Order: sequence, then C-alpha cells, then structure tokens
Amino acid sequence: MTTASTIRSKLAPLVLAVTVACLPVHAQLPSLGEGTDMAVSAERKLGEKIARELYRDPDFIEDPVLDEYVLGIWTKLLTASRARGELAPEFDDRFAWDVLLGKDRTINAFALPGGWMGLHLGLISATANRNELASVLAHELSHVTQRHISRMMTEQNKQMPMLLGAMILGAIAAGRSVDAAQAAIVGGQAMAMQNQLNFSRDMEREADRVGFAVATQAGFDPQGFVGMFDKLQQASRLNDSGAFPYLRTHPLTSERIADMQSRIPLARASTPAPDMVHALMAGRAKVLSNPGVDVLRSFLNEEALQPGNPARQAGALYAAALASSKLRDFNGALALTRRLAQVTAGDPEASRQATLLAAEIALQAGDPTRATALADSDRRPELILASQARIRSGRAADASEQLQTWVTLHPKDAQAWELLSQAYNAQGQALRAIRADAEAQVAHLDYQAAMDRFKAAQDLARKAPPGARDHIEASIIDARARQVASLLREQSLER
Ligand SMILES: [Zn+2]
Repeated sequence: MTTASTIRSKLAPLVLAVTVACLPVHAQLPSLGEGTDMAVSAERKLGEKIARELYRDPDFIEDPVLDEYVLGIWTKLLTASRARGELAPEFDDRFAWDVLLGKDRTINAFALPGGWMGLHLGLISATANRNELASVLAHELSHVTQRHISRMMTEQNKQMPMLLGAMILGAIAAGRSVDAAQAAIVGGQAMAMQNQLNFSRDMEREADRVGFAVATQAGFDPQGFVGMFDKLQQASRLNDSGAFPYLRTHPLTSERIADMQSRIPLARASTPAPDMVHALMAGRAKVLSNPGVDVLRSFLNEEALQPGNPARQAGALYAAALASSKLRDFNGALALTRRLAQVTAGDPEASRQATLLAAEIALQAGDPTRATALADSDRRPELILASQARIRSGRAADASEQLQTWVTLHPKDAQAWELLSQAYNAQGQALRAIRADAEAQVAHLDYQAAMDRFKAAQDLARKAPPGARDHIEASIIDARARQVASLLREQSLER
C-alpha cells in the first residue's frame, strides 16, 4: 500500500530543491466541468489528503490567539465573497474554508484544494496591518472561488491525484527550506513539476482582480494591496525569494503592478492608520516562529520598547513579554505585560489581548488561579487558556463541563477535544477521555487513529463491571465507530 507520506518522502528531496521563479504557464483555462458534483468532490478529497498530512506536520501550529485573529479576517472575506455570488452553494457547503497556520518564518500563503488555506507565521509578522494580510488572503481565496485548482486538475493529473497531492506537499516543503546546491542538480526536473502546480498568468490576473474586489467589499482598505506589493517589490529587488517563497509562486510582474495601480486612484494613496491589534499579533507571530534563544533575547532590546509610535511600541512590548516568558524569566515577563497594559489602555481589543497574554504568562509561571481569573470570557482563546489552567489547578470538572458545551457547538475543534480528553483523564473518566481523544483525531481527518481509539474505548466499555457501565457513552462510541469505519472504507476505495 502506498501512502501519501511515502510518496512525499520520495518526492520531497526533489521538490524541496526548487529555488527558481516559476515560468508562467500559458494555457487556456480548460473547463473540466467545474462546479459539477464530480469536480467538487474530487477536489474536496484531494484537499483532505493534503490537510491530513499538514495536520501531522511538526510545522503545523494551533495557536488559539492567532487562529482567532486570522479566522476573523478570513470570515469577513468569505462573507464578502458570498455576497458577491462567488461561492456557489454546491461547493460552499462542501469545502472546508479553514486556514492552517505553519510555524515557518518565511513569507508565504497558499490555497489548497477543497477550501483549505496555508499561512506561514512569517507573513503575519511581516505585514504592517490587517489590510495587508487581508490582501494576500483575498487573492488566495479567489484562486479557490474561481475554481482555479479544479481547472488545474487536468485529465492527466486526475488519474493520479495521489501524486498531485504529493507534489503540492513537496512544493509546500520547498517554500519552507531551500537548498541551492541541490537545486543546481535537479533544478530542471523540479521546475517542471513546480510549473504544473503554478497557476497560469491569466489565473493570477483574475485572483488579483477578484481578490481586490472581495477585500474592498469586506471593508479592508485597498491600501493593503499597495503595502503588500511594496514589500514584494523590495524583496524581489533584493532577490530575496528565500525569505519570500510567495514571490516564487507570485512573481511581481510590471503587468501586475500596473493593474493594481489602475485600481487605486492616486487620491486614495495615504498613510495607513496605525493598527495596534495587528502589531500585537505580528509580535506574537514573530516569537512563535523564532524559537532560538538568541532570537528570543533580541526581542528584549530596551530601545525598541520606548514610547514613540504607540502601535509599534505595543507590538514590541508584546513580543518582549512573550519572549521573556519563553526564556522563563516570568518576573520580567509580567513587568512587561504591565507596561503593555498601559500602552494598550485606549484600545479595547488590544487591551483584551494584553490581558490574555498576562493570563498565558501567569499559567506558564505556575499560577493557574491567576490565569483563570484573567482569562474570564467565553471567547475561544480565553476558554482554551482557562481550561488548561483549571485542569492544572484541580478543577478539571469545571473545565470538562465548559468544554463539553463548546464541542457540542464546535465538533471540529480538535484542540478543544484534546483538552476535554485531558480534563476527563484528570477525573479518572477513562472511557470519555478516550472518546474525546478519538474525536480530536477525526477533526484532524486521521480516521485510522480515531478508529484505534474507538476500538480501545469499546474494549474498555466491555470490561467494565456491570454496575459501573456508562451505557450512554458506550452507545455514542459504537455509533461514532460505525461512522468513522465508513469514512475509512471510502478512503481505502480512493487508493
Ligand atoms: Zn496567486
């Protein structure tokens, strides 16, 4: 049996080596019955294969704070796209519409089949405000809504979706690490593969045009496109495609720049308003993508923490506090969060983020009671943090009660299921703990791992003495095991 991962490991060294900018493929956009049931389900399945691999990738990061921030932007873009009639119901309902974050510090974002989107933390930290980030996400979203991916799944590729999936994964890996020496050896072959994955110039033009309209309709400032283009332009002048893998798939041609300039009248060109919340999120992304001690220490440079531009200062204080906590200097970290609280006082959302960071640091510092008190809200990042704190402070029953309510409303929230599993474990409820763990695997599309856990739960249920049987839980487990078994059968038929 060949799995995606074995194909991937064979191809990865080859595709890893891509360093060259793509050559645009001049193809007419073939109509492969896009929008038809067949095309939609084929694309969704291919997307699932790729997402399943990415969830297991050590680079994948689940961070409730950044997830909430990015999904906030993403959801606005989706709503605007729907309002413009670009999300036909037959694929709106069946695609995932989810963003997967990668810990990588390079600047990259990519649309995947089936409505998944990959986003490197490097892109969050390199953008000056949410408008710039939205400009990239809107462009990538438009590749999906304009069905560019299904158009690329040519007849030839359709016969080997596994290989196409492996190629996409390889190209993602290529965006992450580049070995120039290897590239010189296998460059030609790798480039040929890369070219099959790149969107055509016509598709890029369409994604620019539709993405611009979607972002503007969603309420983002068109200046975001200008700012992002400036960054890409600077990077391409410096020939810095190592840090900007996005440039390799999106070469900044004079045509793209001219198109963008024609969309934005000069009168609109203005200095973007300071975006304090984005500055905090960029600071967070920087720290989470740079785990090295030296880099963490560099965030503590007192000069950058001085008053000046308030958004910039807030971002620097946020990064410094989080970095101090990672370096286990909790007193220093907490002192920085007090300074951050002062700077963010006039901005409710920035102020909330400052409090949330103080809660996170309190938990790291071994004070779960204070963390719970600070993370006092039913929004997701607070709920996740407070649940972790409650489990640690002997209040697992409170945690499981809240999490159980949450997963009933959000059954695809893997992180909440994982925490619920820990909360049940802490209370000695093994059967429920195993089932919650199984649900976390389902949420990450790993049906085999989920099945193993459901079977273990069924064994455990059978062994329970008659008086101690949890019949309700056992029947839920049986029903879920049957559903997952059918998903597994479907998956094996695709091979
Ligand atoms: Zn593009």
